[in-house]
Amino acid sequence: MAKSLLLWTLKASDATLAVTEVPRDDDVTIKVLYCGICHTDLHIIKNDWGNAMYPVVPGHEIVGVVTGVGGGVTKFKAGDTVGVGYFVGSCRSCDSCGQGNENYCAGVVLTSNGVDAAHGGTATKGGFSDVIVVSEHYVLRVPDGLALDRTAPLLCAGVTVYSPMMRHGLNAPGKHLGVVGLGGLGHVAVKFGKAFGMKVTVISTSPSKRQEAVEHLGADDFLVSRDAEQMKAAAGTMDGIIDTVSAWHPITPLLALMKPLGQMVVVGVPNKPLELPVYAIVPGGKGVAGNSVGSVGDCQAMLEFAGKHGIGAEVEVIKMDYVNTAIERLEKNDVRYRFVIDVAGSNLGSAA
Ligand SMILES: [Zn+2]
Ligand SMILES: [Zn+2]
Repeated sequence: MAKSLLLWTLKASDATLAVTEVPRDDDVTIKVLYCGICHTDLHIIKNDWGNAMYPVVPGHEIVGVVTGVGGGVTKFKAGDTVGVGYFVGSCRSCDSCGQGNENYCAGVVLTSNGVDAAHGGTATKGGFSDVIVVSEHYVLRVPDGLALDRTAPLLCAGVTVYSPMMRHGLNAPGKHLGVVGLGGLGHVAVKFGKAFGMKVTVISTSPSKRQEAVEHLGADDFLVSRDAEQMKAAAGTMDGIIDTVSAWHPITPLLALMKPLGQMVVVGVPNKPLELPVYAIVPGGKGVAGNSVGSVGDCQAMLEFAGKHGIGAEVEVIKMDYVNTAIERLEKNDVRYRFVIDVAGSNLGSAA
C-alpha cells in the first residue's frame, strides 16, 4: 500500500472533494474480499516485538478482485481474482531476489507494518481495509474453483509449510512426514502432505486432537509427544518433520522420530531458544532448518497445487465488527483453525 498517488479531486461540479487513487505504472488496485488473521498480526497488534508503527493496519492473507491497473501492468486486468501474501516488495537486485527468494531479501517490504523505503519510508497498510494497492510483481493469481475465504490463509500459513516441503523433498508419494502442532500452519501441512501422497503423522501434546487429525483432516497416524512409549515406537520412521509450534518445546524427542538424513523444518517462532544437543543430529546426519513464508514463485505454485487438489484452510468467517473478539479468541488459541474476515461483506465503519 502507500504506493499510489492520492489526489484530491472533484468528481462533479456539485460534489465535494474526495480522494482518488491513481495507480502507478506497475500497480494493481485490489478490492479486498477476504483477509485472514495470522498470529503475526496478533504480535503486531499487541506490539510484542516493539516494532508496531501506528496506526497499524493488520492483514497479510488477502484475497480480492482487481479493480484497476497501472499503464505498465501486463499480468493482471480488472476483474481478476488475486491474492497478496506476507510481503509486497523487495529490492529486486540482490542475490536472494535474483534467485527468486524475495522472502529472504534484506529489503523485503512487509504487507502490513512494513517500511516502504522506496516510497518515503511510510508504514505499509495491510488487508484490514477495503482496498489495497500492490506492485504486480507481488500479486498472485488465484486459480478458478477455490473457495476464496478458505484460500486467504494459504497466502501466509499455506506457503509457510508448502515452501519448505518442496525445498526439502518432503513432497514425494510414500515418504513419511511428521507435522508438529495442529493449528493454522499444521492443519494445512497435513492437507498438503496427503495431497502429495505422503504418510502423515501429527504430533501433538493434546491427545484430544487425535480424532480431529485422523478423522477430519485425514492424517494417517497421531502421536502424543508426552507419551514416551508412543514416541519410542515411532523412532526412526520419518523422512522429515515440519514443526509449527510457537511455544517452547523439547525438539530432541522429535529429531529421534526421523530416519538418518531426515530433515526437520522449524516454522514456529518460540521466544526462548530451542535446545539442540548435537548427539540428536550428528549420528544420523540429520538437519534442522528454518523457513519464513515463501517466494512469489512458491506462493503461485502453492495456489496452483491447492487449486488442483481442492485444498483450503479450515476457517471461521467473521465480519469486521467481530474482529476484536476474534483477536481475543486467537490469543487463547480458540479458533478452528483460522479466522478470516469477510471484508467486502462487512460494514467497515462498524468495528466495535
Ligand atoms: Zn502470517
Ligand atoms: Zn533483494
